[in-house]
Amino acid sequence: MSALNTRCYRTVDYVFTPPAITSVLVAGGGAFPVRRVFCVGRNYAAHAREMGSDPNREPPFFFMKPADALLLKDADMPYPPQSNQLHHEMELVAGIGIGGANIAESDALSHVWGYAAGLDMTRRDLQNAAKKEGKPWDMGKGFDHSAPIGLMAPASRIGHPVSGLIELKVNGTVRQSSDLSKMIWSVPETIAYLSGLVTLAPGDLIFTGTPENVAAVERGDVLEGIVEGVGTVRTRIV
Ligand code: MN
Repeated sequence: MSALNTRCYRTVDYVFTPPAITSVLVAGGGAFPVRRVFCVGRNYAAHAREMGSDPNREPPFFFMKPADALLLKDADMPYPPQSNQLHHEMELVAGIGIGGANIAESDALSHVWGYAAGLDMTRRDLQNAAKKEGKPWDMGKGFDHSAPIGLMAPASRIGHPVSGLIELKVNGTVRQSSDLSKMIWSVPETIAYLSGLVTLAPGDLIFTGTPENVAAVERGDVLEGIVEGVGTVRTRIV
């Protein structure tokens, strides 16, 4: 028995097969193994206003989805249970390649491996009920298949987008359309802030918030999102 095995898995007798690692396919080949999924709330002023909040620069706040809430390869999204108000939130997703705590804003982009287009699907009725009662958002946000995501584009190829169209069409009609430059907290600012709360690790994803005009979708709707220079995400609600 090697020292390495002693430290790791040699002696572990799993009582059932450990789950497979969720990974996002990389444009051009390979796969980005996902560790955790962080999401930024209210990161575009116009969306903060439509949700009834003051869009002034309060500190960013975060919630999470489990990694296995990711919906990959443009798969269909089953309409979730316990909700009659499934909302779309079109977002830029940043993927962390190098972890760290208390990452300086000036150094933050060197921790990003790549970017993807994603959807933070939300059971708005459950989220609103939780908000009203001061309860956690988890069941409004972190449910099965709640995070459709497209291919990951390496930052080494596309750079670090700071502006560009972020748009969602539903059944071919534009529903959300904005620009990445309208984020309240930039990606480096977000990483700096989040890494002061938790130690970031390779594989962490950060959904960076949605612009205005979130709205409900129904079974049969086809959602097609694009983040200019990054990629696309597509799903059909079934
Ligand atoms: Mn969101």
